[in-house]
Amino acid sequence: MSSPIHIKNFAMNIIKWVKRQRTRHTLKHHSIPYSLWKKSLRKAALLHDLSSVEKARLRRLATLFLYHKAINGARGFKLTDEMLVVIAAQAALPILKLGLNYYSNWVEVIIYPGAFRVSHNNIDPNGLSSNEMNTLSGEAWLRGPVILSWEDIEHDLHAPHLGHNVVIHEFAHKLDMLDGSADGLPPLHPTMKIKQWADVLSTAYDVLRQQVAHHHRTRINAYAATTPAEFFAVVSEYFFAAPTILNHHCPEVYQQLVQFYRQDPLARQKQKNLSDFDNEGSISKLL
Ligand SMILES: [Zn+2]
Repeated sequence: MSSPIHIKNFAMNIIKWVKRQRTRHTLKHHSIPYSLWKKSLRKAALLHDLSSVEKARLRRLATLFLYHKAINGARGFKLTDEMLVVIAAQAALPILKLGLNYYSNWVEVIIYPGAFRVSHNNIDPNGLSSNEMNTLSGEAWLRGPVILSWEDIEHDLHAPHLGHNVVIHEFAHKLDMLDGSADGLPPLHPTMKIKQWADVLSTAYDVLRQQVAHHHRTRINAYAATTPAEFFAVVSEYFFAAPTILNHHCPEVYQQLVQFYRQDPLARQKQKNLSDFDNEGSISKLL
């Protein structure tokens, strides 16, 4: 007679097999058309350093992202296929080596044409509640949607501020929330040490808070000093969009993010520069 453990394992294997078949079917029949993928990729400077193998993997992840998530325009805002792919490709970057499971327990991405106003209810230490109106370029809800402003997404594409990317920022919040709270501590891999993560990130966070408190110029966006959750989201932006700055000013934070995201954008950038240099060399030899 089969034991309950055997039956459970058998059922798990069936579920995994069905999932794999579904993924294969999605990739075979709903893959992002190559011309659209190339056109969208060209727009996102953030993705230019990826190797061809990584770009192919990103295309598969972006396809699955578009299939499993609903990206909707708010208040009748119309989204083109190119806009959808630009969003999905950037959203897939943080999970390139983690997989789509890291974006589980939520479905919707809402896109506003521009910055949007939200009302937040705050409760002070005395228990008094107050309503505050904020204008935001992005927001991520616990187990709820990610909300983004297209104007800000586009701004990051066309005039990228060093280290600013609203898509990476909000999806980093989603990774942080995966264990049920936004506290700057996403679920770490078994090979990582929570104490080391906490020590490294809280030390860098405290330094930044001190700089802000003393009105010193900060090398990392001062918004990171708001809360540990914002610190993680902002350093994630730098990690992918401006790795040189993050590695220069917070090398230990950079190394922790290398371990968490299982990517090394700085090494990728150097590799790309080398191959560009080689290609230019070969072209000049040919001329
Ligand atoms: Zn944030």
